[in-house]
Amino acid sequence: MQKSSITIASKLPGIEQSIFSVMTALATKHNAINLAQGFPDFNCPPRLIELVNKYMLEGKNQYAAMPGILPLREKIAEKANRLYGSNYEPVNEITITAGGTQAIYTAISAVVKEKDEVIIFEPGYDSYLPAILINKGAPKYVQLSPPNYKIDWDQVKKLVNYRTKLIIINTPHNPSGMVFTADDMKQLQKIVAKTDIMVLSDEVYEHIIFDGRKHESVCKYPDLASRAFVVFSFGKTYHTTGWKMGYVLAPKEMTEEFRKVYQYSMFSAMTPLQYAFNNMLDDVEHYMQLPDFYQKKRDIFLEAIKGSRFKPIPCEGTYFQCLDYSGISNENDRKMAEILTKQYGIASIPTSVFYHDKVDHKILRFCFAKGEETLKEAGEKLSKI
Ligand code: PMP
Repeated sequence: MQKSSITIASKLPGIEQSIFSVMTALATKHNAINLAQGFPDFNCPPRLIELVNKYMLEGKNQYAAMPGILPLREKIAEKANRLYGSNYEPVNEITITAGGTQAIYTAISAVVKEKDEVIIFEPGYDSYLPAILINKGAPKYVQLSPPNYKIDWDQVKKLVNYRTKLIIINTPHNPSGMVFTADDMKQLQKIVAKTDIMVLSDEVYEHIIFDGRKHESVCKYPDLASRAFVVFSFGKTYHTTGWKMGYVLAPKEMTEEFRKVYQYSMFSAMTPLQYAFNNMLDDVEHYMQLPDFYQKKRDIFLEAIKGSRFKPIPCEGTYFQCLDYSGISNENDRKMAEILTKQYGIASIPTSVFYHDKVDHKILRFCFAKGEETLKEAGEKLSKI
C-alpha cells in the first residue's frame, strides 16, 4: 500500500500497543512458556463445542434479538437470583455483549461525557482508561499497593465531588488477585449513597475465587445494584476467551442508555453461541467447581516456585499470581519481564503497565490457567533464577 498522506490528530495520543501483544510476540519469538496473557491453554467443555455445532447446523446463524436471545437472558436472571439474590428483569435489564471488554466500553460510552470524572483503581485492567479518555472523561486514580492491594476508601471519599460520574470496581481483581470484602462493598455503598454516582462493576472472575471466599457481587447490594452496570464474561467461566461473549446487568433506566450505544456498535452478539451457553448454564456444577479447579492450579504453581527467590503476593481470586522479585534484582519490571522471557524462557506481565504513571513495585504477573506440566516446568525455570 502506498504511504498515506493523512495525518490523524490521535484521540488516544498516550496509548501504546497493548503489553499483552508485546509479551506474547516476545514469548513466541523466544519459544518461552507464555504465562503473560490471561487465557487457558486447555480446551472448553466438549459439550459446549457440540452445542455450538448443533445450533449452527440447525440454522441459528442469523441476527439474534438486539439484547440477546430471551431464553439466555432468563437463564442469566435465574443464575444471578440464585447466587446473589438479585431480581434482574430479563427483558429490560440484561444485555448479551461481545465479551466483558465490549460491555465495559459500551457502558462508559453510554454515560461518560466531557469533563465527567471517573474514579478508577490502579493497578487496573487496561481497557478502562482508553474508554474514559475517548469519551473525554477525566480519570481520577486511587492507587492500591502491594502486598495486599487493599482499597483506602477515605482516599476514594476525598476524590468524590459534583463532577464524579462513575466509579469502576473490579473484583476479583486483575492483576493483583485481591478480592473485595463485604466491608469494601459497604464502604462503597456509603460513599455513593445520596449521590448520582454510578458504579461499573467488572466481575468477570466471579467464579475464580479461593480459600472458601464468597464473591461479593454488586448484585447482592440493592443500593449499589440500583446504580450499577455489572459485567460478566462467558470467556472466563467456560475457558472460551476467544469467543468474546459476556453480559451486563443494569436497572432498566441504565440499560436503556446502554442499549442505545450497543445497538449501533454491535447490534447483537453471535447467535449460535448464545443458544449453546443457554444450555450450558443448566449445568450449575460447571461453575460451582471452578474455584476448586483454579485453586488447585494456583497451588501447583505456588508449590513449584516454593524453592525460588520470588515472593508470592496473596492471590485470593482470578487466574493470576503476582510475584515480587525485589530480592533478586533491581531491574525495572519491564526489563525484568524481558530478561525472563529471553534468557529463562518464561513470559509474564510487568505490573507497572497497569498504572497510568507506570509505578514499578518490582512485581510480575503470571497466569496460572495452564496445564499442570506447564505450571511445574514454569516453576522449575523460575526456581533457577
Ligand atoms: N475485565 C477484566 C478484569 C479482565 O481481566 C478481562 C479479560 N482479560 C476482561 C474484563 C475482558 O473480558 P472479555 O474477554 O470477555 O472481553
